[in-house]
Amino acid sequence: MIKYLFVIGVILGIYYFFIKKKPTIHSNTQNKHKKEASNTNDMLECATCGIYCEIDDTIISHNKYYCSNECVTQ
Ligand SMILES: [Zn+2]
Repeated sequence: MIKYLFVIGVILGIYYFFIKKKPTIHSNTQNKHKKEASNTNDMLECATCGIYCEIDDTIISHNKYYCSNECVTQ
């Protein structure tokens, strides 16, 4: 019996773990969908350093995307 209670406890623990995780994942995907609705791409790769930046923070120069003015001049 003690073994069964232990197994049930573990299952409940895993269950709570996933239930706790699910709402955050759900809200994250909702945020992504909202972002995708306003922007075609969430993140763009900097042509110089390769860092991924949000589209709002990127600088477009010579049809390439840069994360900062430093990368544009490099
Ligand atoms: Zn850069």
